[in-house]
Amino acid sequence: MAKQAVVDKDACIGCGLCASTCPKSFELGVDGKSHATNPAGDSEKCVHKAIANCPVQAISWKK
Ligand code: SF4
Repeated sequence: MAKQAVVDKDACIGCGLCASTCPKSFELGVDGKSHATNPAGDSEKCVHKAIANCPVQAISWKK
């Protein structure tokens, strides 16, 4: 099963970087915050990159 990412909405500042890095895995909601969409949408490598590049470390792997 593909690993799933989760976004901490309290920490997310809505910069949109994750959604532009992995558009199949993250999108900004009407609240201006990111959330994970299709867990298998982008490669694990892509999601790793999004996790590493998030300026506020709001993304993590679901345990
Ligand atoms: S990169 Fe981080 S702060 Fe920016 S939208 Fe994604 S989760 Fe939010």
